[in-house]
Amino acid sequence: SSTFSMVASHSRRTEGEDKIFAANSAAQSAAKTIGPDRVVNASVGALLDDDGSLSVLPTVIELLKNLPAEEYAAYAPIGGLPGFLEAAKKAAFGDFVPNGYIEAVATPGGSGAIRHAIWNYSEMGDAVLTSDWYWGPYKTIAEEHGRKIETYTFFDERDCFHLSSFQRKVHELLQRQNALVILLNSPAHNPTGYSLTMEEWNAVFDCLKAEAANKEKRIILFSDIAYIDFAGNPKESRAFMKLFGNLPENILTIVAFSMSKGYTLYGMRCGAMICISSRKEAAEEFKTVNQFSNRGVWSNGTRPAMTVLTKIFSDPQLLEQIEKERQVLQTLLTERAESFIQEAKRVNLKICPYKAGFFITIPCKYPDAVVAELQKEYIFTVPLGKGIRFAVCSVSKDKCTLVPQKIAAVINKL
Ligand code: PLP
Repeated sequence: SSTFSMVASHSRRTEGEDKIFAANSAAQSAAKTIGPDRVVNASVGALLDDDGSLSVLPTVIELLKNLPAEEYAAYAPIGGLPGFLEAAKKAAFGDFVPNGYIEAVATPGGSGAIRHAIWNYSEMGDAVLTSDWYWGPYKTIAEEHGRKIETYTFFDERDCFHLSSFQRKVHELLQRQNALVILLNSPAHNPTGYSLTMEEWNAVFDCLKAEAANKEKRIILFSDIAYIDFAGNPKESRAFMKLFGNLPENILTIVAFSMSKGYTLYGMRCGAMICISSRKEAAEEFKTVNQFSNRGVWSNGTRPAMTVLTKIFSDPQLLEQIEKERQVLQTLLTERAESFIQEAKRVNLKICPYKAGFFITIPCKYPDAVVAELQKEYIFTVPLGKGIRFAVCSVSKDKCTLVPQKIAAVINKL
């Protein structure tokens, strides 16, 4: 019968292929049939050159290629190479190291950090909080581990961070549960491109501190900085991390560092989770618990990627070189986004407030239908709950200019 299933009860899933990867394969087969020039593949979450090939940082790739055999064939320690963990902290915080006890554990990208944070800091069955626009895998990872996602409204009527919605939801969840993990992706949020301002970050912590007055409660602010290296000025974009210091002992901040975007090493699966706590024991416990989880889920991380980051942060010239190369990619991305936004304004296409990053989101009523209609014109986008996601990171500037009008036409027609 249709209810027959071989899998355990907790693993019965209705969802099939990931929507992002589905849109990408449809775009690729269209490109084979009618030629890549006529296809707009705005589904991929990776920065691509105008010709559709993956943009890479040449110096990073050279470092990787030139490693001696044992640096890529050997295991890394379970918690990560010590030099890598130090480098990851430097890469994450820059000049804005927060005050407090800081510990780091290597993970397979930011995804691994999300997994461990949810598993180790929320209770089974708990709700994990994020904004209503969010990266789909947050939900997948939460559900894979017997948790669920609940959301607050990300934007207010002025297209700024919706502080009161955030406050209400934090308060409501902390009445129901003693631990709360909050996933907050900023700067250059996926999928909208929003970055919280310093005032907004301050307000977030004012809210959390007020809730933390109840010492029974444990609040975990998970700062997902997956796109921070493409969020404009690398100094300014990190300033908010100073706020992670000097917090009450029942607030723990976890920063998710990833080498996927900032070092163009998506496939190497390397990153780290970094905690900041005012309490030494909480930081030590973080180290113990997440190292244990590494062993219990995937063992060790990817040694060659760790070694590459270690080398980059022990040689200022290398770092400078990589920053220059990254700046070229940042400019490419900014130009594309600006072209899209300018054209969207001209044709009155409403988009979510974009400040930086890989994606622009267009709110609309029937996302699946809009995506399907656009596919007929060989424009491949990703449907979200309340809109569609357009990956400016993977589409040339010329195509970015052509598309808003077509999206507007489809939305107005439906
Ligand atoms: N967080 C967000 C918002 C992302 O978009 C991504 C990747 O697309 C990640 C985290 C994690 O990526 P990775 O696991 O490759 O570091």
